[in-house]
Amino acid sequence: MPPPLEQRRLLITDVPGPRSRELMARSAAAVAAGVSTTMPVFAAQAGGGVVVDVDGNSFIDLGSGIAVTTVGSSAPRVVDAVQRQVEAFTHTCFMVTPYAGYVEVAEALNRLTPGDHEKRTALFNSGAEAVENAVKIARAHTGRSAVVAFDHAYHGRTNLTMALTAKSMPYKSGFGPFAPEVYRAPLSYPYRDEAGLDGAAAARRAIDIIEKQVGAANLAAVLIEPIQGEGGFIVPADGFLPALAAWCREHDVVFIADEVQSGLARTGAWFASEHFGVVPDLVVAAKGLAGGLPLSAVTGRAAIMDAAHRGGLGGTYGGNPLACAAALAVIETITEERLLERAAEIEGVLLPRLQRLQAEDDRIGDVRGRGAMVAVELVRPGGTEPDPLLTQAVATAAHRQGVIVLTCGTYGNVLRLLPPLAITDELLTEALDVLAAVLAESGDRPVARVLDQETTS
Ligand SMILES: *Cc1c(COP(=O)(O)O)cnc(C)c1O
Repeated sequence: MPPPLEQRRLLITDVPGPRSRELMARSAAAVAAGVSTTMPVFAAQAGGGVVVDVDGNSFIDLGSGIAVTTVGSSAPRVVDAVQRQVEAFTHTCFMVTPYAGYVEVAEALNRLTPGDHEKRTALFNSGAEAVENAVKIARAHTGRSAVVAFDHAYHGRTNLTMALTAKSMPYKSGFGPFAPEVYRAPLSYPYRDEAGLDGAAAARRAIDIIEKQVGAANLAAVLIEPIQGEGGFIVPADGFLPALAAWCREHDVVFIADEVQSGLARTGAWFASEHFGVVPDLVVAAKGLAGGLPLSAVTGRAAIMDAAHRGGLGGTYGGNPLACAAALAVIETITEERLLERAAEIEGVLLPRLQRLQAEDDRIGDVRGRGAMVAVELVRPGGTEPDPLLTQAVATAAHRQGVIVLTCGTYGNVLRLLPPLAITDELLTEALDVLAAVLAESGDRPVARVLDQETTS
């Protein structure tokens, strides 16, 4: 194994450097244009809280490869487990010659997902594939076909999940026709909802639309991200999710939590549903589950999960043995290294600092999130009009300064922070210094006072 990566921000060339520029040119000539990249730098190594590029620049990682390397990239237990597995066997297909790792991942997820009812799990490869299977299972169980998803939702890029995803550009535009029987309901979005609309009222607003436009008798499932990912890290008002879940229970509608981004310790709980006191019927997990190896899961009530007929679920690679070995190592790492607590500590570093910045800068409309899933919504000064240009400018400037930060949001005006839980406080603070500085220098306003205050601390 190579020695552990030095945990520091280091820029030894312009960003992108010459090697990255050369690879970008080859990429443009070889890779389909539809597959775009956030940053023009190519990775050589990653671990802890840093990504090192092919030119030797070391970036502070606030992205975790989109919430995937929650335990850190190449986390030691994951490397070890995968190495042992790759030497034993790489694939037999669980549907042909099963293996224990798959069963152990199922047992672990049955234990770790909310609720102590009897559960079953099925494993797949990607988040989108698992969401599709959750819908298949809900339809098989209820004998109904309609599915409700929410404004700002992101559930993937396959045909059914494109239909479930809200945003047209870039996810859906030109790629239709989409799967039928998908309906959209309004979300609880405290920053943008009318004043006084609490969680219960927002749920009532959604349920009214569901009852009038779909009807519970036709509805297989309500699908929701407890904290939205791509849509803008929107945290619903308290009471919203429990009221929806209660309505689903009353009408035998399957309540599916898409925890692909929010799950597996990211928010300081195994699953974000726990923050809101909801027990979903089905939980979809993926991104953080296997430390970077492709693995996804649907876990839920045994009676619902077992509704699909024998042979109705599966896939060649679903629950691949390497990915299962990685997932077991991820779960062990989260437990042994107390990463739920670590995620809460990271929230304690990120939120207060960002709230202080917000108090000084009226372009920061909202600061929100849980654990190591925190966002800053940027707006035109003095109002709530989204400012995607400023957001892009800040992200690009941060990249040039050696900080990997991602954007999201229906309006493209949200900076999202998703550091690996293996990051140090020093790196986090340094990354926040960089963000504060580039924010102060970006857009059409002069360098703000916050710059002096925050970067000299
Ligand atoms: C990323 C994501 C998906 C899709 O996962 P893929 O592995 O990219 O298919 C689905 N739902 C949510 C909430 C996600 O963040």
